[in-house]
Amino acid sequence: SNSQTCAINPATGEVLSSRPYASQALIEQAITRAASASKVWGNTPLTQRAAAITRLASVLESQAQTLAQTITREMGKPIRQSRAEVAKCINLCHWYAEHGPGMLENQPTQVPGQQAEIAFRPLGVILAVMPWNFPLWQVLRGAVPMLIAGNTYLLKHAPNVPASAGLLAQAFIDADFPVGAFAEINASNDGVSTLIADQRVAAVALTGSARAGEAIGAQAGKALKKCVLELGGSDPFIVLNSANLDDAVSAGVAGRFQNTGQVCAAAKRFIVEAGIAEAFIEKFVAATRNLVVGNPEDEQTDIGPMARFDLRDELHRQVENTLSQGATCVLGGEKLPGEGNYYAPTVLTGVTPEMTAFQEEMFGPVAAVTIARDAEHALELANLSQYGLSATIYGDEHQALQMAGKLECGGVFINGYSASDPRVPFGGVKRSGFGRELSHFGLYEFCNIQTVWKN
Ligand code: NDP
Repeated sequence: SNSQTCAINPATGEVLSSRPYASQALIEQAITRAASASKVWGNTPLTQRAAAITRLASVLESQAQTLAQTITREMGKPIRQSRAEVAKCINLCHWYAEHGPGMLENQPTQVPGQQAEIAFRPLGVILAVMPWNFPLWQVLRGAVPMLIAGNTYLLKHAPNVPASAGLLAQAFIDADFPVGAFAEINASNDGVSTLIADQRVAAVALTGSARAGEAIGAQAGKALKKCVLELGGSDPFIVLNSANLDDAVSAGVAGRFQNTGQVCAAAKRFIVEAGIAEAFIEKFVAATRNLVVGNPEDEQTDIGPMARFDLRDELHRQVENTLSQGATCVLGGEKLPGEGNYYAPTVLTGVTPEMTAFQEEMFGPVAAVTIARDAEHALELANLSQYGLSATIYGDEHQALQMAGKLECGGVFINGYSASDPRVPFGGVKRSGFGRELSHFGLYEFCNIQTVWKN
């Protein structure tokens, strides 16, 4: 309905919970709290902020099983992968608690006599609009650096993961953060507009679709607020003739099908050099066929249901369009019967640049394979996308390194598939958005980088 949001277990179709949208009064209260928390937290010594992040890691650790089960129930992630998501968040906390303070120390400049230096101040209240595909990781990879820098964080999570959002908010309370340093609110899109326009909100972060990026980026622009947009991708996975075939196949399967294909930086377009194409496709299809599709709560499951029924309909429409445009379906290509929201792991071959599977982001378990005449052609095909999040290359390292410099994207992974890691920046170019998360770059995105010049 229009007045509430609903969480549905995608493995069963069962309604888990429903929740009204936040009223204007609740939104006002959330901003007031976040703004006053900002004064307290922003003036808390950095060592204490880092210590709070370490406490958060301990709370997440003690709650790990509940968190993983909640992720699985709300959005269908296979349980092993949900546990890995929680572990990744704990590692992120430890990494920023250890390295963040050093990154936030004043930095010298080239002005003689150390007269001028650079300080990193908080911006204030940051509004974050987040998606459901990694209900914990997407939030924390933004929130942890923002908080350690002294900002406060106001979360508008995706409507289908309310229990995950609630557990996160509770984890910050249990870790003794000041009230309002991290808060969660079930704002409608209009509520988000109110928040963006409010003077007490300093900046905005979004992870989601390009469509959401256009809407939120425009509003942030109108309000003259900094925003970081982490949008979709249609990442190429390039396989050169020189690739180790078995390694490329196993990385390709993991890179495409983890989280049931619902990953912004997943391998989506397989661009395979002609000399290795037949062998690659044969092994890739065989390995994909071996994936265990089933109940996400089962330990052995590799592929669970897709998170939302409407997104499965959309994916199927994209597959059907691509087939009507002349591609071949060599595996899957259908919704699996039953109550659950399952889609058969799918491999499409003969995909060419004008087809839907090449042009649009395929956010589910569907691999699109395109054959390249040679490495030069592979590069051209890889860049023939409106997106530019990341890319993978399997093959001779020297050749891959040369190609990396010509790829229009925010990350290149050579002989290993794309993943976000706190030690390196993550983000895109073109319609994949702008700004970076993680590393020191992610930390500085939401700082007032202040020059202090003593004359
Ligand atoms: P959305 O972009 O719609 O959702 C992401 C978040 O943005 C949600 O919290 C959503 O809330 C919010 N949002 C969307 N539009 C607005 C708006 N105008 N104002 C305020 N908030 C907004 O993605 P979907 O969940 O619909 O998924 C659709 C597609 O998005 C996927 O198929 C995939 O292509 C891409 N996607 C990319 C992700 C990534 O990791 N980069 C993650 C998730 C999706 P609400 O639902 O309430 O509008």
